[in-house]
Amino acid sequence: MGSAPARKIVFACLLVSIVLFSTVHVNAQGAESGQTRKYVVFREDDVTPGAKFAELQAVNQVHIDKNVPVTMGIIPHPNASAGNQLLQNKPFLNYMRSIASNRLFEFAQHGYTHQSRGTASPSEFYGLPYAVQYDTIKKGRDDITQAFGVVPTTFIPPFDKGDNNTLKAAKALGFMEYSTAFRDFNINEGYMNGVRIDAVSLVFANESLQSMESTTDQFLNDTHGIDTLVVLYHPADFSGPDGAVNSERVKMLADYIDYLEGTGRVQFTKLDRTWTTEGSGSSSSSGASTSEASSILTSNGLSGGLGALPLYASFGLIAFACIGFFWFIARPRRQPPPKRL
Ligand SMILES: [Zn+2]
Repeated sequence: MGSAPARKIVFACLLVSIVLFSTVHVNAQGAESGQTRKYVVFREDDVTPGAKFAELQAVNQVHIDKNVPVTMGIIPHPNASAGNQLLQNKPFLNYMRSIASNRLFEFAQHGYTHQSRGTASPSEFYGLPYAVQYDTIKKGRDDITQAFGVVPTTFIPPFDKGDNNTLKAAKALGFMEYSTAFRDFNINEGYMNGVRIDAVSLVFANESLQSMESTTDQFLNDTHGIDTLVVLYHPADFSGPDGAVNSERVKMLADYIDYLEGTGRVQFTKLDRTWTTEGSGSSSSSGASTSEASSILTSNGLSGGLGALPLYASFGLIAFACIGFFWFIARPRRQPPPKRL
């Protein structure tokens, strides 16, 4: 291997190997970080004192049993009475405080009064001056923080309807995420003025499980489409005709979550993205604890890291084989002594 051409060949081989190795390494990292995955966010609007409390708890219990997160849109001030209304209904207050530190639940702000101003297209904020919108959103945000000790970072305008001033005011108040209808900014998902926007993709309401699954299949199979499916429901969607909780609809939500997990192609997250499940969800059985979920996270991380090792080993072997091959053909051969004529 002492000759100059052989050294050049070996050097070229090493260079090619390094380039190949780093490309594969970057790709492997991309796959491990889940960039090819799709995300599902559940958005539970109209969480407010004195409204559909039994339904709220029943639906949240599904999220606890399945260990699947949800973003709750809280209405801070639903009627005209004075003071912080979130403090005035003790069962609601105690319940919300009991789940405030559970990472499954994001506390988002859903307007202030959720009263429409009676325009053709209902909205609490649309068309109001910036200063009014800012003050109103701030009052609601402060009420949520005072009641639950949480500073919301996601803003959801009531009726999925706001304007540029709503977004500007929310941003000025520290909100980082904003969820509304596509028509507000013609954005399904992306950033506007530095705030992340995720539009509603699927409305639970009176849909059948079959139609939910078919819409979700389209989302999963559209490789050029959005990454995050925002599924909107309200506690009122789970009310029965007699005013009791409609257990069939609650079961349908659980079945839909099972279906999503069964696809093996989605991760569940919240609008604030502070916690995302690994793999296709966390647990198919009910009642998985937080520590169980975190151990799943850790083991997934580990196996992901080990999974890349054989890949690197193969490239090492290829590099060595390549060097060996060129060394073999380029090695200096013993020249036969010149024949004397
Ligand atoms: Zn609402």
